[in-house]
Amino acid sequence: MQEITEDDEVKGLYWVTINGRRFLATKNFAPGISVYGERTLKRGSEEYRIWDPYRSKLAAAMFKGLSFMPIGEGSRVLYLGASTGTTVSHVSDIVGSSGVVFAVEVSHRVARELVEHVAKHRRNVIPIVEDARNYSKYGVVYGKIDVVYSDIAQPDQTEIALGNCRRYLSPRGYLMLVVKSRSIDVVKEPEVVIRAEQERIKEAGLDIVQSILSLEPYDRDHGFILSRMQTTKDSSS
Ligand code: SAM
Repeated sequence: MQEITEDDEVKGLYWVTINGRRFLATKNFAPGISVYGERTLKRGSEEYRIWDPYRSKLAAAMFKGLSFMPIGEGSRVLYLGASTGTTVSHVSDIVGSSGVVFAVEVSHRVARELVEHVAKHRRNVIPIVEDARNYSKYGVVYGKIDVVYSDIAQPDQTEIALGNCRRYLSPRGYLMLVVKSRSIDVVKEPEVVIRAEQERIKEAGLDIVQSILSLEPYDRDHGFILSRMQTTKDSSS
């Protein structure tokens, strides 16, 4: 027995119940094409992709009680640390044909897979092979961005994300930051590191909407911070 229902608040996000177990899913923007071996389900002419929280920190954050999901149909997302596109592909499903995902990845080898498995089949994904520190070099990003999503496991990951926000985020846009505590400090407790990064974000002038201090059991040593721009920012830097 399976039941598929759209999320009450986020268009493009679905909950699937199979034999009493609940799964998160998105409607496949590229039907027939799977990205990371994820399970797919058919309902009529539509295909849904199960979104695995053990493979995607955004899905993990939702299972850990993310109170607000700023990415929805039509969103314009700047995604830092796209890797091979596991999470990017689900974000692409959600934003659909009226949205766009600018997917930044520094590694050429990894970016080739992102292009082959994801961007080639999804016209709403625009790959950018660049270090996210060099945000002024992206070139292809046009217009203002609704959400900066960052998952780059670098010691200066928060600074990199904030630099991208200053340059591209719309005045009331959101930053979704995955914090890998061990990339910042291997000795300190992850929660201490994540709280410190939260303070940096506040100092940069964003409001903290929610902090998820641990993504366990889905991922170890990671936190997730959702924040929002407070006021109009100068985007000329
Ligand atoms: N977000 C991906 C997902 O959920 O499918 C996983 C991201 S993986 C943890 C981190 C990625 O960030 C790696 O592919 C790495 O090459 C990339 N990365 C690390 N530093 C970067 C930087 N400075 N600029 C852009 N990408 C970077």
